[in-house]
Amino acid sequence: FVHVYAEGIDYGGRFRGTMLVLRDVTIETGIDRMKSEFVSTVSHELRTPLASIFGYTELMLAKDLPAARQQRYLTTIHTETQRLTSLVNDFLDVQRMESSQQQYHFKELDLANLIQEVAEFQAGSATHHQLSLETGDAPVRQVEADEAKMRQLFGNLINNAIKYSPDGGQVELRLEELDDRLRVTVSDEGIGIPRQALPELFGKFYRVDNSDSRKIGGTGLGLAICQEIVRAHEGLIHVESTEGKGSVFTVELPFVQAEVSLEEIVEAPL
Ligand code: ADP
Repeated sequence: FVHVYAEGIDYGGRFRGTMLVLRDVTIETGIDRMKSEFVSTVSHELRTPLASIFGYTELMLAKDLPAARQQRYLTTIHTETQRLTSLVNDFLDVQRMESSQQQYHFKELDLANLIQEVAEFQAGSATHHQLSLETGDAPVRQVEADEAKMRQLFGNLINNAIKYSPDGGQVELRLEELDDRLRVTVSDEGIGIPRQALPELFGKFYRVDNSDSRKIGGTGLGLAICQEIVRAHEGLIHVESTEGKGSVFTVELPFVQAEVSLEEIVEAPL
């Protein structure tokens, strides 16, 4: 980007040289793009549930409706309010991530148990998908982790697997105990992710730009939040995917290191 271009002519009208100032504005345009994506995502994602809440409350206020109908409308209003709450929570999380104010409360956790609970909870709302959990020899070792953040991490991944798969799709969770860490994979048979989108997938507000993803709403924040949670736990997250076939998200989290006592060291044969 050429910021200034000037030719130097002195008082006598003689040409003295040319000045060219180059300024790299790649970062600035990137931020501008993110800002406008943010505004359009927020307005779109807020508008849909708000319109629904507004419409149903208006109907209920205007008419004396039978109890069953009222119940149905209230259920929708309740679901949409939950959706708005989780949206606002995601925005707050990202803002805290950016200002490094996110707080973690670590404790030793049995993740196999926690993931099973999260899966059961998600299965309750995923009536059109088959959800399975394979724990093999269920890991017995504990992970030092923040419980609420672990629920959010695996909840997001399972929710995406369901969201980006057609009805009838299989979502498979698998837990594996490796030497020093736990590996969790979430696999689906959904729309998959184009190869060129993979490097950006965990970026804030990033959404795959194709009609399938556009039809399915979202903010592009879920995976950025997942990545931040995994980073805070010194783990790793990655994805393998084939467009039209499905995706596999893998999370690895270190086990709590067993403390070696002084006696064990002393008694250990040399
Ligand atoms: P959101 O789902 O709110 O858009 P995410 O950060 O969770 O945001 O995901 C970013 C993008 O990655 C999604 O918009 C979607 O295009 C793609 N994506 C995430 N998970 C999957 C999946 N399991 N299958 C296919 N595409 C996915």
